Amino acid sequence: MNRIDEAVTVVGGGIGGLSTACYLADAGADVTLLEQHEDLGGVAGSFEMDGFRFDSGPSWYLMPEVFERFFGHFGHSVDEAYDLERLDPSYRIFWTDGDRLDVPADPEALASKLEAYEDGAADAFHRYLTHAEEVYELAMERFVYPFRSGWTDWIDTDLLRSARALPLLRSMDHHVQTYFEHPKLRQLMEYKLVFLGGSPYNTPALYTLMSHVDFNQGVWHPMGGMQSLVDALAELAEALGVTLKTGTPVNGLRAQTGGVHVSANGQSHMAPRVVANAPPAHVERTLLPPNQRDYDDAYWDEKTYGPSAYLLYLGVEGDVDPLRHHSLVLPPDWDPHFEQIFDDPSWPDDPAYYIHVPSKTDPSFAPDGHHSVFVLVPIAPGLRDNDARRAKMREIVLDDLAEHAVDLRDRIVAEADACVSDFAEGFGHPQGNALGLAHTLTQTGPLRPAHRATEAPGLYYVGADTQPGVGVPICLISGEHAARAVAADA
Ligand SMILES: Cc1cc2nc3c(=O)[nH]c(=O)nc-3n(C[C@H](O)[C@H](O)[C@H](O)COP(=O)(O)OP(=O)(O)OC[C@H]3O[C@@H](n4cnc5c(N)ncnc54)[C@H](O)[C@@H]3O)c2cc1C
Repeated sequence: MNRIDEAVTVVGGGIGGLSTACYLADAGADVTLLEQHEDLGGVAGSFEMDGFRFDSGPSWYLMPEVFERFFGHFGHSVDEAYDLERLDPSYRIFWTDGDRLDVPADPEALASKLEAYEDGAADAFHRYLTHAEEVYELAMERFVYPFRSGWTDWIDTDLLRSARALPLLRSMDHHVQTYFEHPKLRQLMEYKLVFLGGSPYNTPALYTLMSHVDFNQGVWHPMGGMQSLVDALAELAEALGVTLKTGTPVNGLRAQTGGVHVSANGQSHMAPRVVANAPPAHVERTLLPPNQRDYDDAYWDEKTYGPSAYLLYLGVEGDVDPLRHHSLVLPPDWDPHFEQIFDDPSWPDDPAYYIHVPSKTDPSFAPDGHHSVFVLVPIAPGLRDNDARRAKMREIVLDDLAEHAVDLRDRIVAEADACVSDFAEGFGHPQGNALGLAHTLTQTGPLRPAHRATEAPGLYYVGADTQPGVGVPICLISGEHAARAVAADA
């Protein structure tokens, strides 16, 4: 990366903002990060309530090599920052017909379990996973890790040849069906597309790479939860000389000669360059003057946003068996739920959902004899989430849990929830989505919003709504790319 001898203001202290602040400072920039909330981490982090701790958003620590690569860039390692435990089983699936599957950390052990669902499934799984690994290696090496400064950098015959080797044009569901017929095996290969903000029907088969992430690389837990990562990023940023200012909302940005004028907390300053970690749609609509926006409202309204979420955080007394650290409850037919997220936005009647019980692994999350439980139901972005709707969803979830896993009702001693309006008002996520722009074919790779704003010179973007995309490890990489974009221009 070129040296940067300029001051850079980073707007937002989510994973992308913290990551880019570290790379920028390491390249020589004088970096100030302004975060509107008192806490850093954005949607990632944790909160405490009545002696319980909860990861507020992300809880699956995936792609551990990306975190190693990040800390390695600064001469550190993950080990120095926090302890990491590999989970085994990685997670448990509860199908609502009564069937349960523990997904072991060892893919060989999983292959033999799959054979019970379908003759030949073990062989099919080996072939499927080998292909997923090849796609992962190619995608990371050629498309995700390298920073490409502009469109011309994508027009390269070698790169286009690599792109042809990626399964881009068919859907994930179509791809998985060529290996497995059993609907439960298809669900097992496809559920993680929700992590990318998509469904098996609108996500290209390229994202079969997520199966390599899930089954080969495994599911990990940082002791202390995602907060340990956020704390480590903040500590690293400060050690590199970044000034972190929390409780500092930015309420205006305007590009002018010499940089970008930043208004924050009733004060203003000129920054030669600004990197915004808030979603580009939000920055354009609320922070920039109309003549400095790259796109109009219609452009942003027509985008496919990933799901929002109904989140229920519970402090529970006593045992929560048979739940595991990560559990999924899936109706054998999940199509109606996907339709209610992407095609016909409405609250789900028979939801597929996820339960996180970190206290199964990490005693720091709950007092003795108690558990910290959070339930995440993916729902359509843009839904109205008044008290009555949240209360109804709470009843659906607790009834469903009692029927298919464990009855928690009489043992809840602490409770909070979050939903669409919290993501919209708290973080500026368009339509209150939780995850960012979905990874549909037309919102993948260079087709996602770029790191450089065009109409506001000196303004850059980082985070889940830019390139490469959604997820904690991917936002770490986004931070590197945004810093490289600044370095290329500085
Ligand atoms: C419920 C949920 C579950 C998830 N589960 C997982 C998971 O298990 N594993 C995984 O890898 N990923 C998961 N993700 C995705 C992952 O958390 C995100 O992709 C990632 O954390 C997004 O980071 P970001 O940098 O894009 O920004 P954000 O987290 O959106 O942070 C942006 C920051 O900018 C600040 N900001 C915005 N506007 C202003 C302003 N005007 N002035 C100052 N500050 C401002 C915000 O307050 C915020 O702190 C999950 C996300 C959610 C919401």
